Amino acid sequence: MGEWHRCFAGKVALITGGSQGIGKAIAKEIGTYGAKVVICSRSSKSVDAASRHLKDLGVEAMGMSCDVSSKQEIDALVDKTIAQYGRIDFLVNNAGLYPVTNFLEMTEEQWDQVIDTNLKGTFMCSQRVAQTMVAAGRGGAIVNIGSTSSWIARPGVAHYSSSKAAVNLLTKVMAVELAPYGIRVNALCPGVIGTETTLDTAANTPEAGREFATKVKRIPLGRVGTPEEIAKAAVFLLSPDASYFTASVIYEDGGYTAGISSY
Ligand code: NDP
Repeated sequence: MGEWHRCFAGKVALITGGSQGIGKAIAKEIGTYGAKVVICSRSSKSVDAASRHLKDLGVEAMGMSCDVSSKQEIDALVDKTIAQYGRIDFLVNNAGLYPVTNFLEMTEEQWDQVIDTNLKGTFMCSQRVAQTMVAAGRGGAIVNIGSTSSWIARPGVAHYSSSKAAVNLLTKVMAVELAPYGIRVNALCPGVIGTETTLDTAANTPEAGREFATKVKRIPLGRVGTPEEIAKAAVFLLSPDASYFTASVIYEDGGYTAGISSY
């Protein structure tokens, strides 16, 4: 804890989609190591509640409403962060949508919403933040939250899988282009994680419940992961302990993507 406290203290982390689930856990984890934390989500009510929660834990935090599919709103988010804290050292592109929609019925609007949030949002946030990092000349680190759906096909996620597979390659290209500026970029791909959203949806929707049970059955470790487990890996990838990690795509999934888990 002592070492990590030194490397995050006084630094600024921007976490998109930080109002709940995995993003909130990452904000809490890096905040308790002394980073100043900026979180955003579309709902100002939930992002304000999450930033109040972080402040109650002693974390220096700011919440702001921002839709990552809007360049204008990203510009406002980054400008306000710089005005408030003077720098951005870490970015976690976590905001994401994962609806399940049959391929034959998927509308153009449904496709666009997922791609614009998960892929274009990651591109636009990364580009804007990386520009500030390059201008400041201090380097930085970016973690893109991917998914095992970037690798494994299942019904209903043509838009989602496509967005996350593209995020993996976007990660590698960004890593290559930003390495000369001391900016590391990695992707962290969670498997099935027990966030409030996934657990509530599985409990309250029969179809989602079947999907959830089918996925859990094929996890070699025999359980879903927790948002806190993903947060620890994300914060490691941002830390100087991960100084030789860049362009890596890391699956944290209890073995889910390894193959057949039992006979
Ligand atoms: P949640 O649905 O619990 O939270 C998503 C967060 O993103 C919320 O804060 C939401 O707030 C925000 N968000 C959604 N759309 C936008 C947008 N356009 N602009 C800004 N913020 C937005 O998700 P999880 O915590 O479960 O997932 C987080 C990430 O992890 C996602 O990228 C997801 O794809 C990935 N992941 C999750 C897995 C899981 O099992 N949970 C498995 C694999 C990957 P609001 O709605 O107010 O905008």
